[in-house]
Amino acid sequence: MAEPAIQEHSPAPPAQSTPIELRGMTAELLAAMVAELGQPRYRTDQLLHWLYKVRVDRLSAMTNLSLKLRAELGERCQVDVLALERETADAAGTRKLLWRCSDGAAIESVLMAQSDADRSTLCISSQVGCPLGCTFCLTATMGLRRHLRAAEIVEQVVLAERLSGERMQTIVFMGMGEPLANFDNVSRAIEILTDTHCAGYSPRRITVSTAGVVPGIDKLGASMLDVNLAVSLNAPLDDLRRELMPIARRYELAELVAAMRRYPLKPGQRITVEYVLLAGVNDELSLADQTARLLRGIACKINLIPLNEAEGIPFRRPGSAVVLAFQERLRAAGYHAFIRESKGREIRAACGQLATEAGAGRRVIAASMLAPGSRGD
Ligand code: SF4
Repeated sequence: MAEPAIQEHSPAPPAQSTPIELRGMTAELLAAMVAELGQPRYRTDQLLHWLYKVRVDRLSAMTNLSLKLRAELGERCQVDVLALERETADAAGTRKLLWRCSDGAAIESVLMAQSDADRSTLCISSQVGCPLGCTFCLTATMGLRRHLRAAEIVEQVVLAERLSGERMQTIVFMGMGEPLANFDNVSRAIEILTDTHCAGYSPRRITVSTAGVVPGIDKLGASMLDVNLAVSLNAPLDDLRRELMPIARRYELAELVAAMRRYPLKPGQRITVEYVLLAGVNDELSLADQTARLLRGIACKINLIPLNEAEGIPFRRPGSAVVLAFQERLRAAGYHAFIRESKGREIRAACGQLATEAGAGRRVIAASMLAPGSRGD
């Protein structure tokens, strides 16, 4: 398999003729635009209120803005850039949201109810498809169609809030795509999501999950975005990891682990390490031992994710005794190791599945959309 193409600096701006996407602008940029229109500063606050507190879908709903200003904004700006195409839910409260972008691309988010809280985790996408080609992942079968723009990322959150009527407990970049391969748009979106004038989420409630794009990890660490990091490991040996994840051909484990060690953590903060368990491939106890050695000294917790078996994915799910033994081995080595079960299989809450079905002529196979902090990347 060819080495995956990584584009770490591809902002994918809207074309010149497309409207300005209001939820893709920082509060500062919005203020500059309002000033350019000759409007007082408080108009920016009103705009932000409508966008992020009331979560309106169109300018005409912003009733305390003058008709003239609404008309001027209407000539150049757009509010909603995503349209909900389909929503499915299961008995446990997991909701799968399929969004249609203005160019017809389909993306997805998954809203997972927490059993122990009245708030939810939202898993969002960062790209249409994914370039990384992990062998156990459905999204990989789509390839990369394009990066998502900041507004398309932010709106997955704002529109999920509008639909559910609630704030999210946590937001995880674990849907379609490799977020660090779309760094500029993802970082702009995080800026907007964490700005108290905009969506106002604490950075500690946001997790960016990567398959191991080493320069992206360093850039995220240096960015002051201050979010949590999750790394999809899946194998503690380079040879095996290269078989499962083509990105490992570019960044070896030594480099990846060094980047994890460099990632700035606050007291009590840990990196999440994700490990999808594939029967007879990476579930031997000796590999648990190797994982323990590899991660020694890194403040981390390990999420073990037994694969969802699926047509088209050439792996099997290990038996529960194997999974428990693997977990126990890591725990015995001093790690916080958890087993994360997939959620929502019956509603096709599978990574890339709904979007793949919605795409013209794509084959439909099942895969694993994983519990919070536990996707296969
Ligand atoms: S597991 Fe993640 S990084 Fe790998 S192909 Fe799927 S979406 Fe991309």
